[in-house]
Amino acid sequence: MNSNHRIVVLGAGYTGMFTAIRLAHRTCGTGVKITLVNPSGRFVERLRMHQIAAGQKLADHRIPDLLAGTAVTFLQGAATAIDPEARRVTVDGGLSLGYDTLVYALGSWTDTGNVPGADEHALTLNSPEIAVRFAERAVELARSGGLVTVCGGGLTGIEAATELAEAHPRLNVTLISAEEPGAMMGDRARVYLRRALDRLGITVVSGARVAQVLPDAVQLTDGRTVRSDACLWTTGVKVSPLAADSKIATDDRGRILTDATLRSVSHPEIHAVGDAASVRMTWGQLHGSCQSGLPTAQYTADTIVRLVRGKSVKPFRFGYFHQPLSLGRRDAVIQFTKADFTPARWRLTGRAAVMYKELVSSSPLMTYRYSKRMNMTTFVSKGATASLETTV
Ligand SMILES: Cc1cc2nc3c(=O)[nH]c(=O)nc-3n(C[C@H](O)[C@H](O)[C@H](O)COP(=O)(O)OP(=O)(O)OC[C@H]3O[C@@H](n4cnc5c(N)ncnc54)[C@H](O)[C@@H]3O)c2cc1C
Repeated sequence: MNSNHRIVVLGAGYTGMFTAIRLAHRTCGTGVKITLVNPSGRFVERLRMHQIAAGQKLADHRIPDLLAGTAVTFLQGAATAIDPEARRVTVDGGLSLGYDTLVYALGSWTDTGNVPGADEHALTLNSPEIAVRFAERAVELARSGGLVTVCGGGLTGIEAATELAEAHPRLNVTLISAEEPGAMMGDRARVYLRRALDRLGITVVSGARVAQVLPDAVQLTDGRTVRSDACLWTTGVKVSPLAADSKIATDDRGRILTDATLRSVSHPEIHAVGDAASVRMTWGQLHGSCQSGLPTAQYTADTIVRLVRGKSVKPFRFGYFHQPLSLGRRDAVIQFTKADFTPARWRLTGRAAVMYKELVSSSPLMTYRYSKRMNMTTFVSKGATASLETTV
């Protein structure tokens, strides 16, 4: 193996962290240099952000602690430019890092820019700090039976609404959703979900999109107005403009376009993983999730090791397996799926589902711990292959 090879991983979220740790284990003793770049020293457990919004105190995982015992160098800072021709990354507008291989793992966040007023009058789950602000507001409002709206009836919106309603029974929580909440689940899981929303006293307003967020209300496109003392925005996804600004080929949302080996179609020495990668499988496009992100990270670490050793690589294979959904701390529903994320026959509910969901949420940190010593597997279903032609 080339002992001078420099690998820079941008982003220490779920996928960047896993890529770096697995690479470190697999290249241990070879002299390959791995640098992990992230703006904050805290590892953010995005899977638990709704728990913070409901007032729970979560563990503060420090990135250097998670990397302890590996040869990964942690550089705290934000990547501000990539020069793919010179193979250099600028961090915090000054420091310049050279690389032979770059892993792009900048994730995504909720976009408040598409609906008027959302940026000014809604909060998000984009960072622990913002989630804490929402939690503080929810505590104030709960004292007076205030009104909270959660916009977005996808998995994140449902998890946030149920968590808030369970933590603050006096709060009036309204879930606003363009479609029926949990529309992607099977019939029986949806019925279970609907009962849980009713039991927690959550009002569901569905069938219309949000037209505008006001300081004290949410206006819908069909003319309805929902009163709101605090609005939590969970719908719409945005990614960093860094790749597009750096002239790396991206899709129309700014995600790096990848080939079947998850390498940039314009710059093959750049690998993209997680939410920031545009990955097309034979059955359709991957959507941002840890479930698909961790396998992209595992595959990418293994692919880089093979490429550095001069070996051939096989296309990425993946299939979805489940839609895990917490309904507060005491209830959950897990819809098992086919590879393309459509519902399969089986579902899990109640206490077993709570335990299952907790295992899902804690598994990334467990994976990091064990990956320092062994090659952990994060795939449950291998589904099908990525569909673009491999360039290897
Ligand atoms: C409340 C909630 C619940 C969820 N539940 C589930 C679930 O049950 N199952 C599931 O599969 N998925 C779930 N998701 C989605 C999941 O969290 C994301 O798909 C996952 O975090 C993507 O991982 P990632 O590594 O691509 O990005 P992230 O985990 O977001 O990490 C990106 C990292 O890049 C860093 N970064 C950004 N810009 C820069 C820069 N310029 N330079 C350097 N670093 C930078 C960020 O600070 C961050 O640390 C949930 C999301 C939310 C918000």
